[in-house]
Amino acid sequence: THDVHIIGGGLAGSEAAWQLAKRGLRVRLSEMRGTGERSPAHQTDALAELVCSNSFRSDDSDKNAVGLLHHEMRQCDSLIMAAAAKAQVPAGSALAVDRDVFSAEVEAALAAQPTLEIVRERIDRLPESGLTLVATGPLTAEALAGSIGQATGADSLAFFDAIAPIVYRDSIDMDVCWMAARWDKGGKDYINCPMTKEQYLAFHAGLIAGEKTEFKEWEANTPYFDGCMPIEVMASRGIETLRFGPMKPVGLDNPHSATPEFPNGRWPHAVVQLRQDNKLGTIWNMVGFQTKLKHAEQVRLFRTIPGLENAEFARLGGLHRNTFLNSPELLDRQLRLKTAPHVRFAGQITGCEGYVESSAVGLLAGLMTAAEIAGQDWQAPPRTTAMGALLAHITGDAEADSYQPMNVNFGLFPPVGPEVKKKGRKEAYTARAKADMQAYLTSA
Ligand code: FAD
Repeated sequence: THDVHIIGGGLAGSEAAWQLAKRGLRVRLSEMRGTGERSPAHQTDALAELVCSNSFRSDDSDKNAVGLLHHEMRQCDSLIMAAAAKAQVPAGSALAVDRDVFSAEVEAALAAQPTLEIVRERIDRLPESGLTLVATGPLTAEALAGSIGQATGADSLAFFDAIAPIVYRDSIDMDVCWMAARWDKGGKDYINCPMTKEQYLAFHAGLIAGEKTEFKEWEANTPYFDGCMPIEVMASRGIETLRFGPMKPVGLDNPHSATPEFPNGRWPHAVVQLRQDNKLGTIWNMVGFQTKLKHAEQVRLFRTIPGLENAEFARLGGLHRNTFLNSPELLDRQLRLKTAPHVRFAGQITGCEGYVESSAVGLLAGLMTAAEIAGQDWQAPPRTTAMGALLAHITGDAEADSYQPMNVNFGLFPPVGPEVKKKGRKEAYTARAKADMQAYLTSA
């Protein structure tokens, strides 16, 4: 018998298991690797395997959101951070690890917990009762994914992401762009970037010529669903395809082009539209611009769009196999399925993205579950901290109808005041976060 059943011994599941077991709770951790079965990306049977890069990204907690997340996780006695410290290899200001040492450290720490049972088994159905934590990751095995899809509704569980680049609002040049909706319908909700014919043709050529990331072999059958075809694939269908699709200019009078004859301005030749991506209004996504262009190529090409010359990207576009829930709609503020609250989710399946983010959400899920078992009211870390901001985004602040995986970034934080100069902004975010986290931990 156990208090909690954790499904998935990846990064999130291992961290959650640690947080629960070290509090003396009885945990069953089910991991399918070790039974002869593996996801197409995993290559070992080790817990917390890093499937690709060996880096946890920046370790700078003064200037960088993911570095700040490292810092906060350490303050919460994170197993993933402790194992990373033991497995660290030189990587400048980044935190990189020897992946085998890292996984061995995680496994040893978990194996030493007397109340934790690690079982090598594949789970095919969501348990009907009993506290359950699902942390089966971006490549959740098929049968379980089917069972989750049944519980959530098929439209609420995605098997591929289609990520359009996301831009920080304050890096968009509003002397060039303007806010409007097509035909002036329904408010001025979009930010519009105008293009002349010459600019459009050059941009189109750039999309076709740009270097793309290949799909992995096991992603080869990636379907292009309606509405999420990569922008470069759409461009390759014809010179005008984009002008009749995501770059359609009709009904968009550009006030910056107003003349006495056309006081409202004219339609540009083509338009790039951005839509608000979070409730704070700090980050905006480029509508229809999901892409497999290489990241450096995206930055170079998208900065040729008028008004985005100085764009800073909260995240760049992508398209991968990735199982994730429409969490803002399905989960409550404590990561529980609203329709079946004995089931909690953690890790990348909640729509966070990255090793560190997945581990952090596993940590939070562990703390929530421990509090729930103890009959305590759990308070989330403040929104101004990296953990609080990430959790708030996943559980309700992101726009549900355009929800796509997200890494931690300062765009998820409530903005610092306008009195903070651009140069000191990152430090202002991290200083505020550290003070607020300290107060939270002291009062907890
Ligand atoms: P995982 O670490 O994948 O853990 C899920 C675990 O659940 C696995 O061990 C799996 O075997 C197990 N499982 C699945 N289904 C079942 C079942 N039915 N029963 C029992 N066990 C099950 N992030 C980065 O930061 N950097 C990168 O370089 C990076 N590269 C990536 C490359 C690929 C190909 C993919 C798919 C993702 C990558 N990610 C990367 C994103 C992501 O951060 C990692 O996938 C991360 O491991 C997610 O953590 P997790 O705990 O949610 O899932």
